[in-house]
Amino acid sequence: MAATKKKTTKKKPAPKAKKVVKAKKIVAAKVKNVTVSVKKSGPAKGKAKKATPKKIVVKKSAPKVTAKKVAVKTPVKKAAITKGAKAKAVSKPKPAPVRKGTKPRTTGVVTAKKATAIEPVKDKSIVVKAEVLKAVIAKLKEPSAIIPVESAPAAQENKRQDNAYAPAVIEKKWQAKWEADQLYRSVIDNSRPKHYALTMLPYPSGDLHIGHWYAMTPADARARYMRMKGYNVLFPMGFDAFGLPAENAAIKEGIHPMKRTFENIEHMREQMKTMGTMFDWEREMVSAAPEYYKWTEWFFIKLYKMGLAYRKMSAVDWCPHCNTTLAREQVWGDDRHCERCGTPVIKKNLEQWFFKATKYADELLNFDGLDWPQTVKTLQTNWIGRSEGAEVKFRVESNQSSVNSDQSTLMTDDWSLITVFTTRPDTLWGATFMVFSPEHPLVEKITAPGQKAAVDEYKAQAARQSDIEREAVDKEKTGVFTGAYAVNPVNQARIPIWIADYVLMSYGTGAIMAVPAHDERDFAFAKKYELPIVEVIRPVETNHDSSVPEAGVLESAYAGPGVMVNSGPFNGTKVNTEKGRKNPGISAVIDWLEAQGIGKESVNYRYRDWLISRQRYWGAPIPMVYCEKDGWNPVPEDQLPVLLPEDVEWKPTGESPLKLHPTWKNAPCPVCGEPATRETDTMDTFMCSSWYHLRYLSPKYDKGPFDEAEYNYWMPVDTYTGGIEHATMHLLYTRFFHKALRDAGITEGNEPMIQLRNQGMVLGEDNEKMSKSRGNVEAPDVLVEKYGADTIRAYIMFFARWEMGAPWDSQGIEGSARWVRRVWTLFTDPSTTLRSAQGEPIVASDEVKKSLRRKVHQTLRRVTRDFEQFEFNTIVSSLMELLNEMYKAREAGAVGSDEWKEAQEIYLKMMAPVTPHIAEELWSQFGKPYSIHTQPWPQVDEAAAKEDSIELPVQINGKVRDRIIVPAEATEEEVRAAALGSENVQKFLEGKEPRKVIVVKGKLVSVVG
Ligand SMILES: [Zn+2]
Ligand SMILES: [Zn+2]
Repeated sequence: MAATKKKTTKKKPAPKAKKVVKAKKIVAAKVKNVTVSVKKSGPAKGKAKKATPKKIVVKKSAPKVTAKKVAVKTPVKKAAITKGAKAKAVSKPKPAPVRKGTKPRTTGVVTAKKATAIEPVKDKSIVVKAEVLKAVIAKLKEPSAIIPVESAPAAQENKRQDNAYAPAVIEKKWQAKWEADQLYRSVIDNSRPKHYALTMLPYPSGDLHIGHWYAMTPADARARYMRMKGYNVLFPMGFDAFGLPAENAAIKEGIHPMKRTFENIEHMREQMKTMGTMFDWEREMVSAAPEYYKWTEWFFIKLYKMGLAYRKMSAVDWCPHCNTTLAREQVWGDDRHCERCGTPVIKKNLEQWFFKATKYADELLNFDGLDWPQTVKTLQTNWIGRSEGAEVKFRVESNQSSVNSDQSTLMTDDWSLITVFTTRPDTLWGATFMVFSPEHPLVEKITAPGQKAAVDEYKAQAARQSDIEREAVDKEKTGVFTGAYAVNPVNQARIPIWIADYVLMSYGTGAIMAVPAHDERDFAFAKKYELPIVEVIRPVETNHDSSVPEAGVLESAYAGPGVMVNSGPFNGTKVNTEKGRKNPGISAVIDWLEAQGIGKESVNYRYRDWLISRQRYWGAPIPMVYCEKDGWNPVPEDQLPVLLPEDVEWKPTGESPLKLHPTWKNAPCPVCGEPATRETDTMDTFMCSSWYHLRYLSPKYDKGPFDEAEYNYWMPVDTYTGGIEHATMHLLYTRFFHKALRDAGITEGNEPMIQLRNQGMVLGEDNEKMSKSRGNVEAPDVLVEKYGADTIRAYIMFFARWEMGAPWDSQGIEGSARWVRRVWTLFTDPSTTLRSAQGEPIVASDEVKKSLRRKVHQTLRRVTRDFEQFEFNTIVSSLMELLNEMYKAREAGAVGSDEWKEAQEIYLKMMAPVTPHIAEELWSQFGKPYSIHTQPWPQVDEAAAKEDSIELPVQINGKVRDRIIVPAEATEEEVRAAALGSENVQKFLEGKEPRKVIVVKGKLVSVVG
C-alpha cells in the first residue's frame, strides 16, 4: 500500500498531537464518569424481561445525546459537561434548554422541543448520582476481592473451600475491573506497532442474537491475540443506527425512531458487555447522532463540490411496501424483491441524487495490496462487469411505411443508425441477424405492419417475466421477426432484425448483433429459426497462419482461437482467446472500424452510479437547498448539521414526514438568501457506514470528521471482519468512498482496509436461517446465564469453521462447557501431589516431563498458526487435546515440576484470547501479574516441540498393512530396513524379495511385492 502520498503535506508535531489526545481522554473520562441510573419510561421490552440479573447501576457511557450535543456545539466543552454533572440531584427540568441553546445556528426552523406525542430519548428521567459511581469504583478497586494472591495463605484456603467454577461471579468481576482500569483503552503509542482490527458494526435492532456473538467474539479473540503479540490494538464498536426498521416501527406503533434507536443501543451495549470483548467503548460512534451525521452531510457536500454527486431523473427500483427507492444492490433474487421486506419492486421515475461511483470502476477492479478473499474479489469484479470491445453503428433500413409516416421526432439524421456494443468485433462478418430487446424504443417504429400482432404479443409475454428468467442459460430461446432489416456495416449484408427476451435494455444499448457461428445462444436461436450461420473464425491445428484449414460442418458455436475467414480484408488474421486489445484480431478490427468511421473502441460496465436518495425520515438529511433562481446549492458548512426535526407526524401516507412537515423544508437560498426549499430525501444508510471506521478514530472530535493525528497513526484498517453478504454493497461502497476522499485530499492511500476475512452464518438447529417466526433463535443472554460467556465464546469458535458457519447445536455447547470446567478443575485442584498405593509420592519421569513439554510447544505452534490464519475451531480443539495430555501428565506425577508450571502458564496464555475471564481468574490465582491480557504471547521452543520418533504407515501393494515407529531423524535406509523388518510385512511378502520400496519422508513407506 502506498500510504505515504500526502503525509508530507501534513504538519504533525508528534508530541503535541499526543497531548491533544491525552486532554481528550480526560474529557472523555469525565463524560463517562457521569454515572446515571436510568429510569426507563418506555417499555424497553428486552430489558424489562430480564430485569433481575441486571446490576445495581447502569453505567451509561454518558447521557449520550445530550452530553454529546454539548460537546459538539459549546466551545468550552469541558466546563459545560462538568457543570452539567454538578447539576445533579436537581432532577433535570428537561434537557431541552441545553439543546435549544446549542441549536439555533443550524436551523431556526427546527422547533426546539414541542414534544408532540413522541418523547425523544433524552426525556428519560436522568438522575445524576456522582456518589454511586465512587462507590462502584472503590469496590472494584478493592484488592482482596480481585487479587487474592496478595494474601496468599488465607485466600488459598478460602479458595479451596469453594472453588467451584462460577462464571457468573468471575465474569462480572473481571469485566468491572477491566472497565475500571481502562484495560482496553487504545491510545496512540508510537513505541509500538499499531493494529486496527475492525468488525462490522450492528444495526441496533434492540436485541443481540447469536449471530452477533458469532461475528464479534472470534474477531475479539483475534484482536486479543494481536495485542499479546505486541501490537497496539484498536478494536472499536458502534451502531449503524439509521434505517427503515425504526421508522416502520414508528409508523406502526408511534414510537419516535430516535427514542427507540437510542434505547435499543443502550440495551445492546449492555448485552455486548457480557461478551467480555476488548471493545474500546470510549470510541463508540452512533451514525444517527447529530455529531456523526453532521459529517456524513459534510462528506456529501465534499463529493458534490468534486462533481461526484449529481441529480437526475431516472427510472428507479421502488419498494411499494417500504415506500422508498432501492439501490440496485438492494434488489434481490430472481423475482427482484426488496432486500428488506421481500416485496417485489416496481419501477418509478423520480429525480434522485447519485454518486458517480462509475468514475472509479476501473480502479475498483484493482485489488493490488489487498489480502481479501478471492470470492469477494470475484463478486466485486463481476458486479462491476467490465467488458472491452467496440461500439459499431448499424443502419436500419427505413423501408417500412410506418417508419416514414409518423414520428417526426425520430426523423433526425441518425435515427436509423443503431449502436451495438460487442466484445467480439472480430466476428462482425459473421453477424447474420440482429436482436433487439422487446422494450427497445425503436421496435415499435421499425416493425412491419404484417408482424405487428406477433411483435405485440411477444412484448406482452416478455414483460411478465423477470430479468433473471429471461437471461437464464438453460431457458429455451424464443423471439419474433420484426419484418425490418439492418445493414451490416462491414460487408453491407442485409440482416433481419428480431426481438428476443434474452436481450435486456439494461445491458449495453439493448440491441445486439448475433453471430451464431461463435456464440452459443445465437447459435441455438439461429438453429431454431433457420437463420444463416456463417463461420468467421476457423480453428487452426498448426501455427502456420498462412494455411487456412478446411471448413467443417458446425455442430455448435466455436469460441476458441483460430484464424479469421470470410472476413474480407482480415482473412488469415490470428485470433486468440484474450479479451479486448490483447487479442490481435479484435485489436486489428477496432483500428479498422475507427479508420472507416463506422465504430470505435469501447468499454462497457455493468456497474451503475450509486443511487443515494431515500424518501424516508430516519436517515442523514441531504444538505441541499433548491432555489427557483439559483437551482441546487449545498447548505453552507458552518450551518451543518441539518438536523432532523423531532416534531414530525407518523402517517402511513408513503411520503416522508420530512416532506409533510409544515416548516422544516423552508430554508434561505445559500446564494441569494431568498426563501428556498430543502431536499427532503435522506441518504442511503450505506453512506453512513462508508466512513464509520474513520469516526472511531476520534468520535468526539468536532473540528473535522476525524483527528488527523489519530488517522496518521491508526489507518488503514489492518484487519476487517464481517459477513460476505456485503461484498457488492458496503465493501464496494466503502472502497469507492475512500478513493473519492483520497482525491479530495481527506484520506491517504488507495484502500481503506488491507485484510478482509468473512465469517459464515449461524443457522438454527433446524438448519434454517434463524428467525423469530421460525422459533429457532438462540438467545445469547439465556446462554450467558446458563453457561457463562467464556463457554459460549469457546463453543462459537469451536463448532464451525468460522468462514463457513454451521447450524447451532445445543448439545454441542455442553462439550465446551465441560472443557472449561475441566480446565478449572485441573488448575485449581489442591491435591497437587499424587501418591502411590504404598503412600509414596509419584514423581514424574524425565520422559513424562519431556513429552509434556513437547506437547505444549507443539500445541503453541499450532495455535499460533491458527490465530494467524483465522482457524478458530482448531485452536479450541488443540487446547482440548492438550488438556487431556495434561491430565495424563498429572496422573504420571508431573504436577509441581517446572515443566508443569510452564505448561499451565502457556495454557492460560493460549486460552486468554478465547476465554478471557477464566484465563484472567486462574492467572491471578497463580499469583501472576495482572493482567494476563497484557502478557506477551509465548514463544515456541522449536527444539522442545520436535518429535523424538514418528509413526509411519507401511503399504504393501497400495494397502496399509502395518505401522512402524522410527526415530524422527531416521535416514531413508533406516526407515526401509525397519519397514521390511516388520513382522506383518514379512508375512505379506511371504519370504519373497520386494520388487520396489518407496520411502516418502515423514509420510509413509510403500512396498511393491
Ligand atoms: Zn421493502
Ligand atoms: Zn437563490
